[in-house]
Amino acid sequence: CPPPPLAVLGDEVRAPLTGGGEVPYAALDLAASAPAARAVWEAVAAYLPQYGSVHRGAGHLSRLSTELFERDRRDVAAFLGCRPDDQVVFTRSTTDSLNLLAAALPADCTVLVFETEHHAALLPWEHHGRRVVTLPAPSSPADAVALAAAALRKLPAGRPALLCVTGASNVTGELWPVAALAEVAREHGARTVLDAAQLVPHRAVDVAELGVDWVAFSGHKVYAPFGAGVLAGRADWLDAAEPYLAGGGASLRVDGGAAGGLLPVWQRGPARHEAGSPNVVGVHALASACRALSAVGYAAVTAHEQALLRRLREGLASVPAVRELSLFGPDAERVAVVSFVVEGHDSAGFARRLSDEYGIGVRAGLFCAHPLLRSLLAEGSAAVPGPDAGGCDDAPVQAVRVSFGAGTPAEHVDRLVSAVRRLTDGG
Ligand code: PMP
Repeated sequence: CPPPPLAVLGDEVRAPLTGGGEVPYAALDLAASAPAARAVWEAVAAYLPQYGSVHRGAGHLSRLSTELFERDRRDVAAFLGCRPDDQVVFTRSTTDSLNLLAAALPADCTVLVFETEHHAALLPWEHHGRRVVTLPAPSSPADAVALAAAALRKLPAGRPALLCVTGASNVTGELWPVAALAEVAREHGARTVLDAAQLVPHRAVDVAELGVDWVAFSGHKVYAPFGAGVLAGRADWLDAAEPYLAGGGASLRVDGGAAGGLLPVWQRGPARHEAGSPNVVGVHALASACRALSAVGYAAVTAHEQALLRRLREGLASVPAVRELSLFGPDAERVAVVSFVVEGHDSAGFARRLSDEYGIGVRAGLFCAHPLLRSLLAEGSAAVPGPDAGGCDDAPVQAVRVSFGAGTPAEHVDRLVSAVRRLTDGG
């Protein structure tokens, strides 16, 4: 395998082993949070001495920072293939972005969402008082489109509707038919939001080409762990909504006073939903990550990850005790995320042993996708329940998740496969 196309921090970290000694740490939990890209760290280090408040100060650094902040916004829009009228709103994360959109939807909007979604895409809609139609787990990408079409047909005509779609599953890594789902939504007069948290690290996302109305993703999953996220897409509903947060920056003017009450006039555009001092450094890191991924090119990212993914899946398939979790079947197209259960082992204990005995960091649990895990684990799992049910009492069996990216060396994946083999051989 050639070296990884993206340089990331952390390759010098050594993990202590319980038996004594230490090994280079193998970070294989990038679907949770990815390490910082070297290019991102360098961009942040170069930027910090020039840091100033944005949209607030008259001084040189404030003006410079404001210019950079807005250039970052334009670069993120270009990175996402936004249409000319689209807005890029900076948030804290994908969760924040989807909650912002949920709060901004017209009051009579119905939201259609697959029960297989990450909780961040599943829960905001009802939480913000919108009517939700939950779609069952599809058996294939084509089934997903058919299920969405059937549900869209039943919606009352002329009322606003939104279909929430995931780009890639944070559990199985499987790719969802985003363009086809957006098309079927459009045919029924509905809009689409794409949860791209697990897609942007691995595949180019082009909002216009996919035909989605909004896209959400997080900086910390694209090698920019500085606390910024993005909601990008159509301006009309965002401009018509009450601001997500009330405060400075979102208010254009505040009229009135104590006697007559306050009469704020809200901004239009991204500022409407970005009240308060923004996370300027986080935004710069996120935009730098987008520039770094564009410079490396998704062709190189995908080629590297898919070569490692083949090694990983073939290696795991050769271990009889391992059962990979899949919604669409083993041949479905997927990104660098693989979940599995191990016959006779509790997943949390297994993940701990991978760390303690081999210096490999993976995740065990239900991955904030409880309905999906419940159905995937119900299919004849021979794994044993762990002591910690992950907060989900009726699905005490958990899964192990391995996830990696453009900065992962092949040795990490090879070490994982041989560790799984040894741990299962040795009981
Ligand atoms: N959607 C998906 C598919 C995810 O994997 C995650 C993070 N695990 C989220 C949404 C939420 O992202 P964040 O925690 O950055 O808000």
